[in-house]
Order: sequence, then C-alpha cells, then structure tokens
Amino acid sequence: MSMTVQEVLALAKTKGAQFVDYKFIDLPGVWQHKTVPISEFDESVFTEGTGFDGSSIRGFQGIEESDMLLIPDPGTAIIDPFMKLPTLSLICNVVSPDKVSYSRDARYIAQKAEAYLKKSGIADTSYWGPEAEFFLFDDVRYDATQNTAYYAVDSEEAIWNTGKSENPNLGYKIRNKEGYLPVPPADATHDIRSEMSAVLESLGIQVEAHHHEVATAGQGEIDMRFDTLTTMGDKLMLFKYVVRNVAKLHGKVATFMPKPLFGDNGSGMHVHQSLWGNGSPLFFDSNNYAQLSQTALYYIGGLLTHASALLAISSPTTNSYKRLVPGYEAPVNIAFSARNRSAAIRIPMYSNNPKAKRIEFRPPDPSCNPYLAFAAMLMAGIDGIKNKIDPVAAGFGPLQVNIYELSPEEKAKVKSVPGSLEGALKALEDDHAFLLEGGVFTQDLLETWISYKYANEVDAVRLRPHPIEYKLYFDI
Ligand code: GLN
Ligand code: MG
Ligand code: MG
Ligand code: MG
Repeated sequence: MSMTVQEVLALAKTKGAQFVDYKFIDLPGVWQHKTVPISEFDESVFTEGTGFDGSSIRGFQGIEESDMLLIPDPGTAIIDPFMKLPTLSLICNVVSPDKVSYSRDARYIAQKAEAYLKKSGIADTSYWGPEAEFFLFDDVRYDATQNTAYYAVDSEEAIWNTGKSENPNLGYKIRNKEGYLPVPPADATHDIRSEMSAVLESLGIQVEAHHHEVATAGQGEIDMRFDTLTTMGDKLMLFKYVVRNVAKLHGKVATFMPKPLFGDNGSGMHVHQSLWGNGSPLFFDSNNYAQLSQTALYYIGGLLTHASALLAISSPTTNSYKRLVPGYEAPVNIAFSARNRSAAIRIPMYSNNPKAKRIEFRPPDPSCNPYLAFAAMLMAGIDGIKNKIDPVAAGFGPLQVNIYELSPEEKAKVKSVPGSLEGALKALEDDHAFLLEGGVFTQDLLETWISYKYANEVDAVRLRPHPIEYKLYFDI
C-alpha cells in the first residue's frame, strides 16, 4: 500500500494488468466495484473520476440525482489476487459530478475524522487495531434447520449419541465454547487461516497472529497490525474480501454476521485504539490505574458516555444484539476495567511498554461499516477529552470483578448496552451532537443511516413471523 500515481501506472505495466477494478463502500458497509479495460485507464481518473449510478447503491442517491463519480486513491493500489486476468485494484472515494465529496461516502467521513483530530490539537494520529472474528461454514447458504452445529446446540446429546453411519464423524468436533485453542485435527480450519494470512501479507497487510476462536464450527480470528484510521478502514475491507475469497476456494463460506449460531459465542470486532502526538504515545502514565494517562481516561469517559449511540454505528444490525448478551465473552455492561473481558472497555495489560498502551472497545462487531465505526469512536473519545469526562466520576468503573457474576443490586448500578438495534438507533437519535462536531458526520448521513436501518432491517425482522414462534405458538 501507499503509492503515487506514477508508481501505480508503473505497477499496472510491470504486472501486465489487463483491467482496472474500482472498489468503494456502500452505506451499510459492503464493497462494490466496477471494472474497466486497461485501455480506458490513465492518470486522469485520479482527478476526473469514473462514473456510476448512485441510485442503485444501498443508502446512496435518489434517482433524480443519480450520476456520481469514483475518484481512486493511488495509495491503495494492489493487484487483485482473486481475479483471473491480471487486474489493478484501487479503493475509491465518491464525489458528485462537480467533484464535491459525498456526505454518505463513509471513507470521506473517516478522512474528515482524522483531519478533525489533527485540528483539535489533542493528537495528530490515532491507531486502530480491529480483531474481526468470523465463521467458516460449508459452502451452502446457512439453513438453521439443516446445520449440524445448530442441532448440536439445540440438542447436544442427540447429535453426539446418534452414531449413525450417515452422520459425519464428530470425534474431533469442537465442543460448544471450547474452540480456543485446540491443535489440528480439532482445529480443522488452521490451513485455511494460514492461507488467508499469507495472502494478506502478500498485499502488504501485516498479520500478527491467527487462531481458532471460542465457538465451534470453524470460528476464526486473524489479527492485523494496527494502522491509522482510514488506512485501517481500507485494510479491514480488504481483509474481509480476502477471508471470503480464500474460504470460497476451499469450498467454505465465511460470514462476519455477529451471531450465526444460537447458544455459542458470536463474532465480535474488538477495536484497540490509541492516540499519538509528535511520534509519542499519549495513553500511558505509569502512575495511574492500569497505567492510563489522563487523556486515555477522558477518552474512555467519552466512549462510555456515548456508548449506546455509538453502538447504532459499531454494532449496527439486528443480529448484533443477539451477540451482546451475558455468557459469551461479549460485553453487556457499559464500564471499563483492566484485564476484565466482561466490561465494554478492557485495558490490555500484556505489556509495560508505553507504545503498546491502548484501550480495547469490545462492543463493535464485524457487521459494521468500519470507516463509520472508527470515525464515530474517535469522535466520542475526542468529546471525552474536550469535556474532561472522568469515567470514574461518571460511574463507569473501574470494575475488577466479573460483571456477569455481580449480585443483582450491584449489577443494577452498572449501565447496560442497548438490547436491540432499535434501542441503539433511539440512543443515536437522542445523542449525536458529538458526531456532528467539525462537520465530520452530517445530519444527512445520520438521518439516512437511521431511516435506512429502521426500514430495511429493524422492520424487516420485526414484521416477520420468526421460525421459533412456530415452535412456541403453533399449537397454542
Ligand atoms: N467472540 C467474543 C465476542 O463476541 C470474543 C472472544 C474473545 O476474543 N476472547 O466478543
Ligand atoms: Mg483477539
Ligand atoms: Mg477474539
Ligand atoms: Mg480482543
């Protein structure tokens, strides 16, 4: 990653690129693309852009103003590893025909958030380390009535005791919630994760580790080295693309939906974050709780004060709230703590190195639009610093015990995350001024986001009879 226009042209030439692929993100957070033959490609695209119909992209323009342009970012050039003919791939920003940045382009919002941080004078750089978990299933659309893992949860005894020869051998099947960290053959997806990691490294994404995750059925995690905000948004999109496409090559399908299996761990995307100024880390102070600087504490105060609203962007699907329940290592309470994984914010204590000092925000999951999620978290953190929100005085901890095991009276004192997407959207409606600061998020973006989520997701789920309702009520 990180090239000039001239270097991109040279790369296309040396690699014999026959096509150029332009990728951009829609509002919910899925990559879209269009491809042109190399004969249609020259350096003018980096200033003049290339057109597409914005009215057919989720969350974008109305039909009456549908012409939009993509402006590729030369810093994102790679050769696409999955396209059969040699293809140069570029990540794009979205602009109007008169080259005005588009307020619903999430990548632009990420860029604005970075600029806003610099301008605030608080720090010049923020670092982001998302841990996106995912499941690998056999390559058929997941069907809750057919999937063995579902039965294993619903009736674990039944599946282990059948012994029928037509059933798959389950001798090395990982038991529910015991997927962390057995060796192969129990870890049957090890080689696929290694291959995913190798492809990521070949694309300039440094991998720190990969491992099976706690859930059964091939839940995995691959950790990328931290990077700056917009670049990490780009990397996360490329990460999902690589994970899905390598899975596909192995007859598997990868899903980042937060809770595909009832009764087992879901997939989170904990986000490690820290601020830096003039090349120095700003979150470390050896004298304070968990070696956190006052800046870090205020940042935490901001994240936790705005947590419910933030979740409408960082945990933005109806399925997200099936993950955020007690008992599965997903946070439920709005609090912070060193080491403790039951709090919304954990302070990793693996190292005493000031450069490694960071906070881990655990509610997000990989169904989010990463540019919007990182930008929103940064805005909440900055708000905490500007308004000196002390998380201790505000009653957010620190909590030293397992929150899941607190007595009901003690638990009542700790605030909980919203129980549904609807609840989070309501919180965002009530609390979003911190996002509008500096014009980073716009009223248009937030209104579009909220109405899109209600109409296409909240209502789509709420209005349909649920399969379990037949079991509960059919004979009523
Ligand atoms: N899967 C858990 C979650 O939903 C996290 C498990 C872990 O990383 N220890 O957040
Ligand atoms: Mg991890
Ligand atoms: Mg994990
Ligand atoms: Mg983690």
